[in-house]
Amino acid sequence: MAITRDYYEVLGVEKSADADDIKRAYRRLAMKYHPDRNPGDAEAEAKFKEAAEAYEVLSDSNRRQQYDQYGHAGLRGTPGHDFRTMDPQDIFSMFDEIFGGGGLGGFGRAGGGQRGRRGGVARGYDLETEAEITLEQVFAGTAVDVDFTRLDVCPTCNGDGAKPGTERRPCTACGGQGQVAQTGLGGMFRMVTSCPHCRGAGTIIAEPCTECRGRGRVPKRRKLSVNIPAGVHDGQAVCLRGEGEPPAPELSPTGQGIRGDLHVRVRVSHHKWFQRDGDNILMEIPISFSQAALGAEVEIPTIDGESHVLKVPRGTQFGQVIKMSGRGLPSLRSKRRGDMLVIAKIEIPKKLNDRQEELLRQYAETEDLSVMPESGSFWSRIKDMLHGGKDE
Ligand SMILES: [Zn+2]
Ligand SMILES: [Zn+2]
Repeated sequence: MAITRDYYEVLGVEKSADADDIKRAYRRLAMKYHPDRNPGDAEAEAKFKEAAEAYEVLSDSNRRQQYDQYGHAGLRGTPGHDFRTMDPQDIFSMFDEIFGGGGLGGFGRAGGGQRGRRGGVARGYDLETEAEITLEQVFAGTAVDVDFTRLDVCPTCNGDGAKPGTERRPCTACGGQGQVAQTGLGGMFRMVTSCPHCRGAGTIIAEPCTECRGRGRVPKRRKLSVNIPAGVHDGQAVCLRGEGEPPAPELSPTGQGIRGDLHVRVRVSHHKWFQRDGDNILMEIPISFSQAALGAEVEIPTIDGESHVLKVPRGTQFGQVIKMSGRGLPSLRSKRRGDMLVIAKIEIPKKLNDRQEELLRQYAETEDLSVMPESGSFWSRIKDMLHGGKDE
């Protein structure tokens, strides 16, 4: 086996991720790197397979435990697939319960047994993409351009997969039935399944369409402008109904039915001054020792782009939080603004001029605490010690 990356890293999830997080992360990567959406891109295919391998392990609690404890070595000899040599389409169908035809299968959207159908209407896959915005954009709300690839009905064959003007012919594997019977345990049981050769259609394409190579779908890039509401949180998704894919060709060759949705997952970038805590904003500001002791008015920037005067109360302590009500981010729902919480970092002067030194020494005398003698004599004593001088 080639060098294998950490499975959690591959899926981009924390070690503490639960089964749903893992499923969601895998679904996102599989949809993104699916070779049908990235034709001729070997790197995308490798990523698609890598994600499948990581998902296969992390979605199985026993294997995940082995992996957590012993790493890749812990999985040696346990059953698993070698995805690197598998056909992407087979991998996709292997985990089809998580794609579910309805895109959110396994999340209670698509009903089992009638995959991808709701009330008899075929539904396409949901897609997911990401958009990164700044904290200032979270404050004001914004529109972002997203660029993604989805599979659309092939315009040449209208989704049929057959070269225009050619006829389909009956599938020989199932005799045109679309179903095959499998027997097991020496004829003890018999199971009827959908024919793998024709995918249950009963007919196969005699001559495939040259544009989609018989798939009925072609990847298409699409750009959209998406409105991101003010107050959005990192990791939340904006759903664009009907911007996903048309129903899969097995369900509806011409793509009739309901298109899936596009989920635009929002990532909020790191801000150099502000940290977010819910709808509140935290910021540290440096305050001088004298400002902290005597109180002061300090001008500070706020997320709305304006600057506001912060009243530092007399006797402010290191790490003390000073609240500016209503200067935080708007709540996604109510649009009411959170607070700005300013944390005082009191700076101790590293250098003092003569006058400051004199005043500070006078101040120290009032405190009745011992302080170091004046620096000149202090340093000369240190030098004496270092240069083998007399020890007192
Ligand atoms: Zn076609
Ligand atoms: Zn067949």
